[in-house]
Amino acid sequence: MYDFIIIGGGILGMSTAMQLKQAYPDRRMLVVEKEREAACHQTGHNSGVIHAGVYYTPGSLKARFCLEGNRATKAFCEAHDIPYDSCGKLLVATNDLEMQRMKALWERTEANGLEREWLGPEALAEREPNITGVGGIFVPSSGIVDYAAVTRAMAAEFERMGGEIRFGAEVTALEERRQEVVVTTGAGEFTGRYLVTCSGLMADRVVRMLGQDPGFTICPFRGEYYRLPERHNAIVNHLIYPIPDPSMPFLGVHLTRMIDGSVTVGPNAVLAFKREGYRRRDVSLGDMARMFSDPGILRVLGRNLRPGLTEMKNSLHRRGYLELVRKYCPSLGLEDLGHYPAGVRAQAVSRDGKLVDDFLFVNTPRTVNVGNAPSPAATSAIPIGTHIVDKVKALVEA
Ligand SMILES: Cc1cc2nc3c(=O)[nH]c(=O)nc-3n(C[C@H](O)[C@H](O)[C@H](O)COP(=O)(O)OP(=O)(O)OC[C@H]3O[C@@H](n4cnc5c(N)ncnc54)[C@H](O)[C@@H]3O)c2cc1C
Repeated sequence: MYDFIIIGGGILGMSTAMQLKQAYPDRRMLVVEKEREAACHQTGHNSGVIHAGVYYTPGSLKARFCLEGNRATKAFCEAHDIPYDSCGKLLVATNDLEMQRMKALWERTEANGLEREWLGPEALAEREPNITGVGGIFVPSSGIVDYAAVTRAMAAEFERMGGEIRFGAEVTALEERRQEVVVTTGAGEFTGRYLVTCSGLMADRVVRMLGQDPGFTICPFRGEYYRLPERHNAIVNHLIYPIPDPSMPFLGVHLTRMIDGSVTVGPNAVLAFKREGYRRRDVSLGDMARMFSDPGILRVLGRNLRPGLTEMKNSLHRRGYLELVRKYCPSLGLEDLGHYPAGVRAQAVSRDGKLVDDFLFVNTPRTVNVGNAPSPAATSAIPIGTHIVDKVKALVEA
């Protein structure tokens, strides 16, 4: 019998496991993960940006945890010798409409307590000679890191304190009883007094295994990237982001310096026809049937038909994709778009057809479940883990 079982070997599962073990060093703990190693899904397929917290609604969990997470991630990297770079981020406006939107973002960065600098066209050109725009906001605290490396370090820390990890153990059933939770996996059955689930793209299915209605469905959005050739590794000095349309804040490809020295373009956001399906040809008829019979997802798709189709078109035609980045980096050509693996985002959609904006948790008497944890959840993994530990403590003491 374990005291605590955690499902999911992504950054949220490992951050929670590490902090639970710090809080309860003498208790038996187990992480179960269906893959052969940690960070195989969202955590290992993202932009690697340590976000500063520019866009999020003031007072939301995202705004709070991102700000705290930015500092905590950098401190964790320093303590564990993981390379990171506080290279800063530049939001670039390319026309009058974007300039208006940029002013609203400037207010938001103020409300979110961020250090930032307003740049006119000359200052912008001086900082970034290859970027064209009418103005920009520079946010110095944004950075880059390899989140898979952060996750492996958290897992090592958990094991060093005596925690156990079972890879290759897919959870297929859960039973919450009065005194315990029974976790059935492909590698055997485990019983724990309490359960935490951080199952990413499978979050709704795992909550359903507990016999609960999560009230949301995970909608998978593939984010496709390209890598620029090595000769462009110094094309930008910072992370370069377009000014988003406030009604579609996660659309708009950015130029990202990666921690290995390369530069990527992306990601876009295309409906994925398979959860955890990374190639365009990956299709699951079961996933599609469930997606297209979900009233919430159908509403979201119906309401966003035009931008959704444009994203799909640009996904299939690299020239359309290229134009998105040429808006602010005109020297790039089609020959510069090299292969880079895609990621798939887990975005919760509520029954009434809204993309759930904030981080979301679902509690039962013996379990805490992460429901919605899209970007900036990698940045926020340490404060999210602390938040979950507080929720678990409340269950233990109830
Ligand atoms: C394209 C893209 C770009 C992003 N860019 C950024 C960024 O720059 N900065 C940032 O902060 N965030 C970013 N994010 C978001 C960030 O990557 C995620 O929010 C974060 O990784 C979520 O971590 P997680 O542990 O919840 O999920 P995951 O990493 O997906 O982990 C969930 C784990 O649960 C396991 N699992 C699921 N079901 C079961 C089961 N039944 N049994 C056992 N194991 C199970 C899975 O195998 C998986 O390992 C990005 C995401 C994507 C997709």
